[in-house]
Amino acid sequence: MANVESFDLDHTKVKAPYVRLAGVKTTPRGDSVSKYDLRLLQPNAGAIEPAAIHTLEHLLAGYLRDHLTDIVDVSPMGCRTGMYMAVIGEPDEPRILKAFEAALQDTAAHSQPIPGVSELECGNFRDHDLEAARKYAQDALNQGLKIQETVLLERT
Ligand SMILES: [Zn+2]
Repeated sequence: MANVESFDLDHTKVKAPYVRLAGVKTTPRGDSVSKYDLRLLQPNAGAIEPAAIHTLEHLLAGYLRDHLTDIVDVSPMGCRTGMYMAVIGEPDEPRILKAFEAALQDTAAHSQPIPGVSELECGNFRDHDLEAARKYAQDALNQGLKIQETVLLERT
């Protein structure tokens, strides 16, 4: 099976919440696409409930784009401790950190309605929790976001 970058990250050596540059790819036309981890919770110390991370996905999809141009995608991590974000170009991590902080502030302050929540717009529109999503955003801000270097697993 192909190698996957995130499986080489030592998840016991990171300190959440953080932003991490996971990798940069160059397209055949020479453009670059950068991927970042936007980690909210410490790995293996809990997980965001499905309804809350679903709401975070809906809110951060819009709010991150308010603060950062050229976003390709923002998606929840399957482990439910944060989001992945792909961006055209190579914005540096301080720039990403600033945008993530601003988007979390917007999320923490968000009032009803949640965008994109209807049977027409969403694949599981009943499964949302705005209060919990706001709390996770505020908790991450209270803890202070950092830039996380990649710590590679030492495989023996
Ligand atoms: Zn949805």
